[in-house]
This record gives sequence, structure tokens and C-alpha cells, in this order.
Amino acid sequence: MTYAALAAQLTEQEVELVAVSKIQPAAAILALYGQGQRDFGENYVQELVDKQSQLPGDIRWHFIGHLQTNKVKYIAPFVHLVHGADSYKLIKEIDKQGRKHNRVIGCLLQVHIAQEETKFGLDENELDEIVGRLTAAPLEHVRVAGLMGMASFSDDQDKVRNEFRRLKRLFDKYAGIQSAGVRFEHLSMGMSADYTMAIEEGSTMVRIGSLLFGQRK
Ligand SMILES: *Cc1c(COP(=O)(O)O)cnc(C)c1O
Repeated sequence: MTYAALAAQLTEQEVELVAVSKIQPAAAILALYGQGQRDFGENYVQELVDKQSQLPGDIRWHFIGHLQTNKVKYIAPFVHLVHGADSYKLIKEIDKQGRKHNRVIGCLLQVHIAQEETKFGLDENELDEIVGRLTAAPLEHVRVAGLMGMASFSDDQDKVRNEFRRLKRLFDKYAGIQSAGVRFEHLSMGMSADYTMAIEEGSTMVRIGSLLFGQRK
């Protein structure tokens, strides 16, 4: 699919596009940048830091991988949104590093919606605990701006749809909170294979790589 066609479709649906550029060279990012794309997603800290230093300063970098606490410091100066916040300990560290750079760092809480064990994320109890804690006692340099999830890698459409539905229900449950620490704006769900269904189920932000850049090697 061409970038222009996808971008037009998503604009029409009022869904934000994060172009997932992991493993892609800087030139491929610049090609989309030249067509107007500003939000890019990366999974690996070192790769993100390298690309950020080489590429235009108005790119909004999304960290969509699994973030280790000891690596937060490398991306804290510039990261726009951390999609994979999955523990209070990690969020505390993001707050600490945000403080050093005098920034409020946006985070999405990652929820484990797939049946696959390998995927990261919070279960419903942990999610409830963290949202409650940050609502009652906001951290000054973190704003929880919504949820992120990855559905099962499966041909079973009903299963994938139900996983997206569950995430949307959780999003709605907390969407009314207006605290300094928690204010939901984004529901990040949907990738190349399942973004159409994710949008049908209420996604506001899709993370798309291979459909735009071709299959990763
Ligand atoms: C790689 C990745 C994507 C994009 O996957 P595609 O299938 O290439 O669109 C989206 N989200 C996360 C968390 C990823 O790691």
C-alpha cells in the first residue's frame, strides 16, 4: 500500500499513524518524512538514539518496544510517547529521567490481551492498580495518556476481534479520569495485519511497519 493512500484513509477515519521504522534505514524514514509523516515508532533503544541524532528534529519518536528500566535515560531527552509502559517501577524511572530533562513524558500502559505468553503487558488487576495509584498520586514528569496492546498473531478473526474489544472496554473504563497524572487520549492498537479490525473496534492510533516499508528481513 502506498503511504499516501494509507495516510488519506487514516486521516478520514481520524486515526493517528505511527510508521514503524525499526530496521529501516534513515533514507526510508526520510522518504516518508518528505511526504509529511512525522510520527515514527522504534523498538530498540540504541537504534532509536542513533536515528534521532541523524534525522530531522521535528520527528515525534514513539518507543514501541519493551523498555528496560536501565535504558530509559537514553531516550528520555526526546521521546514523544512510550507505548510499552508495563510496570510501576518503569514508570517511576521515566518520571525520574523526565525530571532531569524538565519534561513530562507521555506513556501508554501496555495491556496483555493476547493469549500468547511471549507478549508483554499488564493484566487487568495490575492495570487497575497502576491507574489508581497514578490518579491518586500523580508523578510530575509522567502523563499516562492511554493504553496499548497487541492482539494474538492468529488467523482466527473472532479471537483477534475479541482481544481488541477487551482492550477498548478497558480504555473506556478509565477514559473519564482527568487527573494530572492520568488522562486518556490514545488507544494504540493495530498493526499491518490487523489495523482495519482494530479501527473498527475503536483504535485511535495504529502502528504500521511492513505494510509501508515492505517485509522486514
Ligand atoms: C514491529 C511492530 C509493529 C509493526 O508491525 P508490522 O506488522 O510490521 O506492521 C507494531 N507494533 C509493535 C509493538 C511492533 O513491535
